[in-house]
Amino acid sequence: MQIVETPSKILKKKLEKIEDITPEIKGLISDMKETMKLANGIGLAANQVGKDIALFVIDENLAKENNVPEVYINPELTLYSKEESAVEEGCLSVPEKWLNIKRVKKVKIKAIDENGKKIKFIAKSLLAKVLQHEFDHLNGILITDKHE
Ligand code: ZN
Repeated sequence: MQIVETPSKILKKKLEKIEDITPEIKGLISDMKETMKLANGIGLAANQVGKDIALFVIDENLAKENNVPEVYINPELTLYSKEESAVEEGCLSVPEKWLNIKRVKKVKIKAIDENGKKIKFIAKSLLAKVLQHEFDHLNGILITDKHE
């Protein structure tokens, strides 16, 4: 799949909730995983491949290391710590740019996976940063919007 790059409008859009996990959506999920891998990304949101639905995937190894799913549908995110740290982030939709982004260290996420199974856990470290980055995409927010 082609990765959408800034300044495309869909990257600025708040994405629609998914009501039904159709075979098309399951197909999209596997295409997104492949696209992310080929692009050496550790996360990819649906609008980055031109779909305006609330879905993102994260890197297989990052998911395994943390024992969490790779697919997040209709996620809700709570900032779980006041403590923040800044890390340099890149984005497949903002090529060649690395920006120092301040984010909280821990988040709590609720979502469903591709089988409709409920997901709920608290994430820290790199995983917490990736979840915040991808969740931002679903709300139309890019690293260039967060950078001070
Ligand atoms: Zn991104």
